[in-house]
Amino acid sequence: MNDAIRAQFPALSATVHGRPLVWLDSAATAHKPMAVLDAMNVAAATSYANVHRGVHELAVRATAAYEGARADVARFLGDVDVRDVVFTRGTTESLNLVARAWGDRHLRAGSRVLVGQMEHHSAIVPWQEAAKRAGAELVAIPFTADAVYDLERYAQLLEGGAAVVVVAHASNAFGTVHPVAKMAAMAHSVGAKVVVDGAQGAVHGPPRVAELGADFYALSGHKLYGPTGIGVLWARPDAWEETPPFLHGGEMIRSVRFSGTTYADRPARYEAGTPPILEAIGLGAAIRWLEGVGWNAIVAHETGLTAYLLDALDTVPGLTWIGRGAPRVPLASFVLDGIHPHDVGSVLDREGIAVRTGHHCAQPAMEAMGRVATTRASLGVTSVPGDVDALVAGLAVVRRRLG
Ligand code: PMP
Repeated sequence: MNDAIRAQFPALSATVHGRPLVWLDSAATAHKPMAVLDAMNVAAATSYANVHRGVHELAVRATAAYEGARADVARFLGDVDVRDVVFTRGTTESLNLVARAWGDRHLRAGSRVLVGQMEHHSAIVPWQEAAKRAGAELVAIPFTADAVYDLERYAQLLEGGAAVVVVAHASNAFGTVHPVAKMAAMAHSVGAKVVVDGAQGAVHGPPRVAELGADFYALSGHKLYGPTGIGVLWARPDAWEETPPFLHGGEMIRSVRFSGTTYADRPARYEAGTPPILEAIGLGAAIRWLEGVGWNAIVAHETGLTAYLLDALDTVPGLTWIGRGAPRVPLASFVLDGIHPHDVGSVLDREGIAVRTGHHCAQPAMEAMGRVATTRASLGVTSVPGDVDALVAGLAVVRRRLG
């Protein structure tokens, strides 16, 4: 399937340092197929206006396209109600919305906020700040050397009570998929809300958010083959009911008087100001494009290629692949004996190979693993076995130059 798919991604035919690009950084951001770029261009050229505001024809077209994208997202999340799907600028904003709006309303002095120790800074820092504002306690959920949450320790932590549990669907640092449904059921049994960071987990198969047990689920469009500047926050109706508006301004009101303001129903209530209209349309196009490729085919392709990557890494002398738990999204974090990950990344770059190096915005995760940084190779729908072969050959070059 992959030549035909790759041909739809103009960015993948780039050359870097005179070599064909090998893109192993999909977990940081994914390139976009022509279907997405075209949808945004066509919308800008033929149907562009501000949404929800005008009575004129272009406003009607733009609003229909924007709301159509919301319907695409609702279908992607497991046929949820479109009213529960709020557009944001990305996972980071979605998670801040929950921490600011829900957190500030519900956290009290002495409340406990349980956040996975493996999580991205976007899932940790907003809650650290919310806990500070409320006088609440931020507690880390520990994980094992396999990058799997320690459910026994988690159960013990829950015994001390929790207002909210924050966990990713899948780890961007190590690639493990967390047992979210189980962790959510455990959290709910002590009355805690569950916030799921779906930035990585949503990309490799439609997340059926309600079945996962999430109360809030956040994702970013740019990792899902859509544009930057667009993300999603879904919440259960009862969780939305407990969440006051986050940003205030136009579009989110019903009536404004100097004596007081009333707010629109959701989703408008949480979408103050002019939203990222073209970006939402691009995200809708990305979801339709993925559906066109077929999720079963995508999952089969990525699963096979992940096994190929992991087997290949195990053949590289002096390489330690970190956080080997299963199930996984298609990425691996590793270190080479005696060589700093940034040097690994720089030499690979000269070979045309793009990987991510550093702490992956997960410093507590790295610290718990006794590392400051790793090299991360991540795959996506556009990846091919040749990318993995190129990585292995590139790592041999790294070893020759620096080892
Ligand atoms: N959480 C996870 C697990 C991520 O991988 C990322 C992106 N690296 C984020 C949150 C933040 O996403 P964004 O930068 O798109 O807001």
